[in-house]
Amino acid sequence: MSEDRQNRAPRHPWLDRRSLVLWGGDGPEPADEERDAIGMIALPLRHADAHAALIARARAKGLGVTLVTESWQEQLPVEPLSAAAVADHAERHLDAQLAAGATLATTPAHLVAPDDPAGREQELALAHATVAAWQERQGWRPPPQHPDAGPRELHAALALRPSDLPALPALTERFAELSVDGYWLTLLDTGPAAHRSGAPGGRPLAPVAAPPGGGQPGDSLSRLRAAAPPRGSWQGAPDGRPPDPAPSPPRGGWPGAADGDGWAAALAEITELALELQAQTGRPVAVAGAGAAHAALLASGVAAVCAGPSGARVAFPPQPLDGDGVTGIALPLFHPGILGFVPPGAAHDDARTALFATEPCRCGFHRSFEPPRGRRETLGHNRWWLAAEARDATRLVPALDEIRLASRAARAVRARRRLDLPPLSPAWTAVAETARARRARTAAALA
Ligand SMILES: [Zn+2]
Repeated sequence: MSEDRQNRAPRHPWLDRRSLVLWGGDGPEPADEERDAIGMIALPLRHADAHAALIARARAKGLGVTLVTESWQEQLPVEPLSAAAVADHAERHLDAQLAAGATLATTPAHLVAPDDPAGREQELALAHATVAAWQERQGWRPPPQHPDAGPRELHAALALRPSDLPALPALTERFAELSVDGYWLTLLDTGPAAHRSGAPGGRPLAPVAAPPGGGQPGDSLSRLRAAAPPRGSWQGAPDGRPPDPAPSPPRGGWPGAADGDGWAAALAEITELALELQAQTGRPVAVAGAGAAHAALLASGVAAVCAGPSGARVAFPPQPLDGDGVTGIALPLFHPGILGFVPPGAAHDDARTALFATEPCRCGFHRSFEPPRGRRETLGHNRWWLAAEARDATRLVPALDEIRLASRAARAVRARRRLDLPPLSPAWTAVAETARARRARTAAALA
């Protein structure tokens, strides 16, 4: 095995080697020299058809592929599912992912309110049924058409709103019982930034049935269960719904748009959950949806983070496109000097110019002393920096990587103030403080 290969990021999240999962089909694909930071790509399953060629190329290059089913957008009726319906749902959920080329499959992840223990039990039942279906079909075996591919993996998925997080630590033992290879946590941004287009969600959730007895459908948000989606619905066509016309980036708030204490608390809680799951199970945890602060999670020891070049978080409810299609979306622009993104808009033109004039960029997608222009340059630049930041966050060991990141954060705070940019998200410090407190507790317990 060459030195180069040994240095590659794992194709699936791995506890001993932290890595980045590249989200979305936008922007350039990972270059060979970036394989030290990026081992895997992630796409929404509903875009798998549109990106079939990308998925095939990624697999051919030895990258892992996960196809996120976004089950939380297809909530189930409130009535409990029968055991047969649970098993059927689990089978079809796996079928859809594996048929589309996933090398890492996940269990369904619906939203469950903290005060809905029956809903959580059903989610756990779906997860156990998925594990059973996986073992029955020996899902880890590579597909017959790719006999030399590495083994596939099954990870337990959880979709989490910030308000759901406090109830989760009590459940880690239940999640640990699942015979899975790892955990995939998606943090959904329900804050003001998730609603920036006005209407709370242009694409409504699949209708959630009214509770028996005639309660309001709105009650369902406190009793979010999930309905088995019609066969094939993930791919759009077979149930008559048109497939999504074009891939779109996750429609979250721009990083920095709503990075208040609430978001910082959510990042602290998901850090605690991820590190606790890793400690209890010895399995890797991947966190998606952390926005720009994903590097803080990596630096603090989370095995993998999933992030994309547009920097968006995963909005819930989902947002409509702004009406002018994918190409019309203004992109935030990453700069390492502020440890995050300059928001779109002419108001920050001077800041963009100043950042690149004083700290030139070596990504190669644009002139180094000037900000990237246009979608291609901006996505290329942002994507290059995703890999660079993931690499920088994972050089040594978490305690040391955190210290280096903290000193960069202090410089970023000053630069943002000088350039009249939104303040650095408190999420950066919240993640590191959570991890440090955990290490102190562990050290005290061992002393
Ligand atoms: Zn650049």
